[in-house]
Amino acid sequence: MKIVVASGNKGKIKEIQSILKDYEIIPYTELIAPIEIEENGSSFKENAIIKAKAVYEKLPQYLVIADDSGISVPALNNEPGIFSARYAGINASDKDNLNKLINELKKRNIKKTPAFYTAAIAIASPYGVFTTHGFMRGEVIDEARGDKGFGYDPMFIPKGFDKTLGELDEEVKQKISHRVKALELAKKIIKVL
Ligand code: IMP
Repeated sequence: MKIVVASGNKGKIKEIQSILKDYEIIPYTELIAPIEIEENGSSFKENAIIKAKAVYEKLPQYLVIADDSGISVPALNNEPGIFSARYAGINASDKDNLNKLINELKKRNIKKTPAFYTAAIAIASPYGVFTTHGFMRGEVIDEARGDKGFGYDPMFIPKGFDKTLGELDEEVKQKISHRVKALELAKKIIKVL
């Protein structure tokens, strides 16, 4: 069976393909021209649904899967949360966003504080839209360590470890990541659709 991903992001597509091995995963941009999707929801779940529905409207003959993710820091009122990808501005790079979060901690003299990643997955189908979530808990520190992973990984120490995701091997992240957990749940839903 073919599943269309409502993203053109190669990293996400690779991750989805590695979990949903029994399916053929196709980026929607291979089937139609890229569409401008306004992520104006107020939660990860709402934004994942917006993306999945926008693509499903154009490609109703396929199951469409979308994800939305980010990092939340309770000591900062759960910032950046759904604004993780644009924390330092609309066209901010991953590095700009990472530096902004480090600066926000430094401003408050916070060296280390709890944080968590969230991933929401939405699956649009003829039977409706279904969602799953996955979380990865840990702490953020006021500096970047290591260059593995992406985004906020160099400042995030997952629970049970003493190194950041920038320092730990990719295989470690594959076992504990929010996105992998949400995708494992999504796999169960896809099976019954
Ligand atoms: P999305 O593409 O709208 O889901 O934005 C996700 C944003 O959240 C990315 O730009 C990253 O800044 C951050 N993010 C989500 N998942 C991860 C992760 O696994 N590691 C590091 N940063 C992440």
